[in-house]
Amino acid sequence: MSVNTPIFKVVVAGEGGVGKSCIVRRFISNENSEPVMTVGSEFAYRELDLTGQRLGLSIWDFGGEERFRELMPILCLGAHGALVVFDLSRYSTFVQLRFWMEIIHSTTNKIPVILVGAKCDLPGGPPDEEIKQFCIEQRISAYFPVSAREGINVDSVFAHIAQLMHDATQKGFITPAYSTKPNAEKSPSDALETPSATP
Ligand code: GDP
Repeated sequence: MSVNTPIFKVVVAGEGGVGKSCIVRRFISNENSEPVMTVGSEFAYRELDLTGQRLGLSIWDFGGEERFRELMPILCLGAHGALVVFDLSRYSTFVQLRFWMEIIHSTTNKIPVILVGAKCDLPGGPPDEEIKQFCIEQRISAYFPVSAREGINVDSVFAHIAQLMHDATQKGFITPAYSTKPNAEKSPSDALETPSATP
């Protein structure tokens, strides 16, 4: 027997050094290792269960390096969801999110977007009201403070973007790719709970 697994493309955008690769690595392998700098972009894949539905996330992590920025619009094409990441300990990375949001808005059509405040184990960060205003202005669905180092909210962010993309598919807003393969035994470690989160 075979199953059709929807596969969603998720882009992870934000300035270099904000912690994108660490978040993706923590989600994929639960590793907390010092990353090698991402040159251009990195690709990762993981499947998870969401309220009885198996789905795949193909995750595109952009390095954020100046010289690769012109590739961003091409790499965003066909994305079903996005995580835009800033560093809570560096305010400038929050301000620069407008640049990343412009690219996402101009290359995709109303895909779910989650704002991620990385390194929440460190002190600092914009006031809550400023984050909330930014989310409203940019039509961002949710905000999560995250720490890849401490393992805070990493799975929750991916479960939430998966849920939003699943809901958008049901409403006909986005169309995932489908893989057909044998119905394998599911691992309990792949099951994620979906949290409730609002900006
Ligand atoms: P990227 O360029 O956005 O992919 O950033 P990286 O994932 O390469 O991380 C940049 C630096 O931030 C590295 O030195 C990491 O060790 C550090 N870092 C990443 N995540 C965290 C975190 O959750 N907490 C703290 N304190 N440092 C982090």
